[in-house]
Amino acid sequence: MSVLNRVPMNLRKSKDFNETTLGYTKEQAISEAIRCINCKTKPCVKHCPASVPIPEFIECIIAEDFLKAYEIIRRESVLSDICGRVCPQEKQCEGNCVRAIKGDAIAIGHLETFVADMFRDYTPKIATKNNIDIAVVGSGPASISLSETLAILGYNVTIFEKKSYLGGVLSDGIPSFRLPNNIIASHIKRLEKLGVKFKLNTEITDISTLKDFKAIFLGIGCANSYSLGIENEEFTIKATDFLEQININNLHLNENSDIKNAKKAIIIGGGNVAIDCARCARRMGIEQVQIIYRREKEQMPARIVEINHAIEDGVEFNFLTNPVKFKDENTLICSKMTLGEKDESGRAMATEIKGSDFEINADIFIIAIGSTPKIIPGINFKKYIIVDENFKTNIDNVFSGGDTVTGPETVVLAMQTGITCAYNIDKYIKKLN
Ligand code: SF4
Repeated sequence: MSVLNRVPMNLRKSKDFNETTLGYTKEQAISEAIRCINCKTKPCVKHCPASVPIPEFIECIIAEDFLKAYEIIRRESVLSDICGRVCPQEKQCEGNCVRAIKGDAIAIGHLETFVADMFRDYTPKIATKNNIDIAVVGSGPASISLSETLAILGYNVTIFEKKSYLGGVLSDGIPSFRLPNNIIASHIKRLEKLGVKFKLNTEITDISTLKDFKAIFLGIGCANSYSLGIENEEFTIKATDFLEQININNLHLNENSDIKNAKKAIIIGGGNVAIDCARCARRMGIEQVQIIYRREKEQMPARIVEINHAIEDGVEFNFLTNPVKFKDENTLICSKMTLGEKDESGRAMATEIKGSDFEINADIFIIAIGSTPKIIPGINFKKYIIVDENFKTNIDNVFSGGDTVTGPETVVLAMQTGITCAYNIDKYIKKLN
């Protein structure tokens, strides 16, 4: 194979919920690693939200020192097996790789996954315990990363989770064919080994109930789905509820469910969540699954690889289409859109074409147009929680990070804010003492 082309990932063609990516073999990983020219400017590192020293760990793969490769990644990333699978490398490290000037970018995500998968049982060393208690509210990627970092620094960490399971969006938002449950479970197990305590089914609605903790971290994610705000929307299902029903309650195995027995599903939205819903709907056996989006494919916020996987799964797209109102539970009235000038986000503005209304019929309609965090009284909030440059909220010992602060973003960014917050909490506590 030419050095210009990346070593292809082994994939499993499937219509079920088991992971589709099979990973690199050792030989494949080394062949791919050799393609990295360890270029002078290393734009891959600059465009990694976690600043992972990419060429350094790639060199260790070539030298077959996989533990050292893992330890290099771990200096900046504690969720590398997850980030390698679900993060949009094509817009980050790989999207800026010098190799891509002529040929394919280095498959950094695949190499990161290869290394991280070898050390799933890795247990880091803990500093001497300091008996300082930290409360963590929520258990998604930011909270897991922060808890692991603080536990290693010697803190007593307690995670409060309102649901009956841990992992937040990793567990209930990302389908298992992209992120298998055993990977999330291994991170929870690592936290357990580090002494982190879990309080499940415990929703924190009043920060003062955590007054015995020296510092508090809010990592409550963005679980409140937006509504379209159109007539008769009560007939629809929220994307977060749909994905949770599949990921946690195995909706796809429930032969008596109306959703599983649907013949046609419409998903409204253009992001990764919309794509996940559509792919899940196809995999649970719904014959016709269509995504409605008000702009064109090029403007979709979803990852291009995920859009392509959805097409392979048989998902159809209805672009330049805007929902207007639900006529009844099986009929959505839409209008056609046209694209004009770019707005402040850099995307072409979509304008309705007058008199273009038409009807779309389906058994179920799923709304996937974004989400926000739930407000916690006393914490300053404007769409998302407001923090200063140290991720501190308006309350002195309360910090926040992840999607709660940035809005729905990548796992790598949530992890990076979680780790940064952990070090900021450490500094804050050292100043107090
Ligand atoms: Fe290697 Fe690409 Fe990074 Fe350069 S940009 S160091 S070629 S991975």
